[in-house]
Amino acid sequence: MAGVNKNKSMFIKFLGTAGARFVTFRQLRASGGIWICLGDTNVLVDPGPGSIVRCLECLPKMDPEKLDALILTHRHLDHANDINIMIESMTCGGSCRKGAVFCPSDCLGDHPVILPHAARLPGRVQVIKPGRKYKAGDFAFTVSARHLHPCETYGLKFNMGKVTVGLVSDTRYFDGLADFYRTDVIILPVVFRRARQGIDHMSLEDASELIGRIRPKKAVLTHFGMDMLKARPSCQAKRISERLGVEVIAAHDGMRLDF
Ligand SMILES: [Zn+2]
Ligand SMILES: [Zn+2]
Repeated sequence: MAGVNKNKSMFIKFLGTAGARFVTFRQLRASGGIWICLGDTNVLVDPGPGSIVRCLECLPKMDPEKLDALILTHRHLDHANDINIMIESMTCGGSCRKGAVFCPSDCLGDHPVILPHAARLPGRVQVIKPGRKYKAGDFAFTVSARHLHPCETYGLKFNMGKVTVGLVSDTRYFDGLADFYRTDVIILPVVFRRARQGIDHMSLEDASELIGRIRPKKAVLTHFGMDMLKARPSCQAKRISERLGVEVIAAHDGMRLDF
């Protein structure tokens, strides 16, 4: 990406791979979100429960005070629980009015997940809209079409140097996903091993269908629910990989992808 020093590190770190309620509230996997480092710019997407702890316990530590932006894909607790403490940390307790917060409109308003006092602290709070592009430091991202999920939910597409990355958020599978997420690396939430009627999450079959249609260089499965954990995500990733002839891996807590 223009303006990014090639010698500086570019990585995505998984501070959690828990999906939905049970895995999250039992903390069978962590739920700290996804940290993106692009040279001098640091962005945290979906700081779920325990995100602040995961950041500070990492070796080396991921310092929330160095964040340039926080992004919420939607307001569900497994994605947004720690957003207020993260805003306080990013802004040094409000003493430095810096950083950007990007979120769907229903994260603010009458029943906000971003509390009014926290919303006043960052340099800016920006409501994201489908198809629009946003920037914080060197990090630029495009917002997907609205996902099929009970609240306003979007995924992101961005560049890590020359590599395009698609970060899919919670959704029921729909055909339009393949058009938007046609990227080199795709990160997919796979809550269920098998599709469940009436629940707006992707299953392993849906993920496999999407990977088969996009044929990325690498697909990363994450956001695992209980039955996916029992089915051992790494074994399932290997099976899809062999069937499709595409590299598919299962994320684990603390995993780092370098670019
Ligand atoms: Zn979720
Ligand atoms: Zn959700």
